[in-house]
Amino acid sequence: MWKNLKLGPRFVVSLMIISLIPLAIISFTNYFYSKYQIEQRTRGNLQSVNESRVLHINHFVQLRQEQAKQLAGTYLIRQLHESGVNHPEVIRSIQDDIESVFYELKTKPRSDYKFIDRESDIANISVWDIHGNIIANTNRRLIGEKEPFTFLQILYEKGAYFKGFEKDPLTGEKYLTILEGIRNWDTDNYSGVVLLKAKAVLLNAITSDREGLPDRAETYIVDNEYRMITESRFVKDAVLNLKVNTAATRACFQGTKSPYLYKNYEGRLVLGVEKYLPDQGWCVVTETDAVEAFAPVRVFRNLILIIVGALLFLIMMFVNFSKHAILGPIMDLRNASLKIAKGNYDVAVPIKAKDELGELTEAFNIMARNLSAARAELAEKNKQLEEQKKLLEKVNQELDSFVYTASHDLRAPLRGIASFAEFLKEDYNSKLDAEGQDYVDEIQKGAKRLTTLIEDLLTLSRISRIKNPYESVKTGELVAEIVERIKFDVQEHKVDLKVQPDMPAVYCDRIKIGEVFLNLINNAIKFSSKNTKENPRVEVGWTDDSDVYKFFVRDNGIGIDPKFHDQIFGIFKRLHTEKEYAGSGAGLSIVKRVVDDHLGKVWVESQPGQGSTFFFTVPKNLKDASG
Ligand code: ADP
Repeated sequence: MWKNLKLGPRFVVSLMIISLIPLAIISFTNYFYSKYQIEQRTRGNLQSVNESRVLHINHFVQLRQEQAKQLAGTYLIRQLHESGVNHPEVIRSIQDDIESVFYELKTKPRSDYKFIDRESDIANISVWDIHGNIIANTNRRLIGEKEPFTFLQILYEKGAYFKGFEKDPLTGEKYLTILEGIRNWDTDNYSGVVLLKAKAVLLNAITSDREGLPDRAETYIVDNEYRMITESRFVKDAVLNLKVNTAATRACFQGTKSPYLYKNYEGRLVLGVEKYLPDQGWCVVTETDAVEAFAPVRVFRNLILIIVGALLFLIMMFVNFSKHAILGPIMDLRNASLKIAKGNYDVAVPIKAKDELGELTEAFNIMARNLSAARAELAEKNKQLEEQKKLLEKVNQELDSFVYTASHDLRAPLRGIASFAEFLKEDYNSKLDAEGQDYVDEIQKGAKRLTTLIEDLLTLSRISRIKNPYESVKTGELVAEIVERIKFDVQEHKVDLKVQPDMPAVYCDRIKIGEVFLNLINNAIKFSSKNTKENPRVEVGWTDDSDVYKFFVRDNGIGIDPKFHDQIFGIFKRLHTEKEYAGSGAGLSIVKRVVDDHLGKVWVESQPGQGSTFFFTVPKNLKDASG
């Protein structure tokens, strides 16, 4: 993908990445660090407010408990008898006693908690006997009412009892109810209870105090039935009606670690802390709106975005400028190179600056000019060569036709000379003296050599002139035919001739490739037949060499010095001119012409005295070149 991009986009993207990555890293670390700082600060703040509120709540509850205890411990109230039978005088005294205490608490509140002192929360004081009868009550209308008192049972076992925040069954009001057992002065047995009912006003005053808290923060108390028992800032009439089953309250009551960030009873994301009060089974929660808490981070984030935007704009401008300054000349060079590649050498790239790119452009222009000149020169030379080639071809053709005509015309008189020499030898030999007979022999030998030469010349000229159609040739069969033709020679020289059995089928000119095999095998036989050390051996075979068939003819004959390996393929080039190696020197040049025509190669591997191997190749995908 990246590799497919052009230089321009690549340059732009690289520059953007290089400049944006550090910017992004700095912005993000700053952003997250600030967020973390704010989180820590808010948490600390909430924690200290929560602790302070818990302290006051505890203080308040303890105060009321102590007051109930004091009342239950007075001599007068302890006159209450466990049998339930009491003198009316005692009852009246108790009624007077609680009324005076109630009055005192109402008018002289003793809470330390700020303005709470101004208005007392004590709503009612009552004394109940052990059978559930109201003996005395600051609300006189309720005296004589009766209630099943299961909690008295608990009093026997636990002593003071804190009933928590409940809806009063008699008045329907929501009160915090505190009980304290009464023990008879004489017997010390339980004889009743003192009930002190306080309104929520004090608790609400403590929890709704928002000093030290952010705008949308609040403190509230949840009882162990997950009910809100103080007023909510955000939900009306929440006391005892609103269920606060959040991750924080669950963790608080289950004693597990609570999440710091969670959804509150309204489903809003908040940051919060909480404290469990084991004596009351309450959870005091202080929480604040997360959106509000993180507002400064958002401001910071927006600032970062603005800075990043501004920087991006600057970077883009820089990138655009650099693109033109750096890529412009490179693009000019590229376009000029493309023109040259298409053959238009007449290009001059304008030099825009005196920097390295300017130097490169100048060098390119010089190079293009030189190239153009060299090309013109080359074209001129080519033209000359072409003309010379045509001339040579013409001369060659004329030479070929001269050789052909000359050879052809020489053949008839030569035959005449040969047959007259034969005639002389057969019919007049006895009439000739020894010298005359020698002359006749010489004439015969000369005529024979001349005939071979002329035959070879005619073959050479035929090879050049005649083109046979290409066909698929089974080289195994072709070589077998040749071997059949020369079998007398083979027998005569006792040659061990082997042909590889799986010779391939090749698309070629059958007659000419036959000529190649014939010449190479004939030479192999000729130049190995005089081997005095071992019997002459000739081997014909092939190998598959990727896209060509590679044929070879190997012998164990006299071998060839490597310095002549190239020369022997020249016309009439003979190395071994001794009598026993008679020949015209045309064979290998015929071989070379045919192999060249077939777009193949021919060569020899040989050392003197170590035999020779002649190789030639024929391409596998040869098209018909017969014309
Ligand atoms: P010729 O008619 O002399 O065989 P060629 O063109 O066939 O002509 O061969 C040219 C020369 O290459 C030969 O005269 C000989 O010196 C050398 N030559 C060719 N084949 C072999 C061979 N198999 N072993 C050694 N020398 C060879």
